Amino acid sequence: MIDKQAMKKAWEMANKCEPSYKFGCAIVKDGKIIAADHNHVGEIPDTSAHAEVSAIRQACKVVEDYILKGCTLYSTHEPCIMCFSCAMWAGVEKVVYQVPKEDQDDFMYASNMSIEDFNRTALRSKIRIERYNKKTSLRYQKSQHRRSVKTLGLSGNGDIKNIAKKGKKVNVRAKSASGKKRGKK
Ligand SMILES: [Zn+2]
Repeated sequence: MIDKQAMKKAWEMANKCEPSYKFGCAIVKDGKIIAADHNHVGEIPDTSAHAEVSAIRQACKVVEDYILKGCTLYSTHEPCIMCFSCAMWAGVEKVVYQVPKEDQDDFMYASNMSIEDFNRTALRSKIRIERYNKKTSLRYQKSQHRRSVKTLGLSGNGDIKNIAKKGKKVNVRAKSASGKKRGKK
């Protein structure tokens, strides 16, 4: 039941963001939501202010510790490597996400590596990863994709070069690294 509540909270947070960057996160400890936040990258602005990092910062304040022992992180989207690493350093026990990486435009992520792969190879990670509610994810994928195409003028595959052509100042050398700058996940 807490899975549903926490994911609902994460989406409530996500809905506070501008249309193409609706990313939210909630953190649960002992069956209670102790923190929830959304993407603040463009608003602050702060490259690191992804929803998950923002929620982790908030949760650390709540528990007055930099280790989030016994906590589960719920994210509307599969976290990027930065956010997953942050969860790992914080000692989060489980990550639950809804929209998988493959349902997102490539530029939202800095790496082709999935968090499952990263998790397997990371020395410090003991995080369990779960995907939440696959059907909803597919419905979401279609609506979000249409929104991305409309808002960013993407060709459909989210190619960073297409974004750069739209006049945005992006140094397109390594697609993956530059892509993160545009992605406000
Ligand atoms: Zn992230």
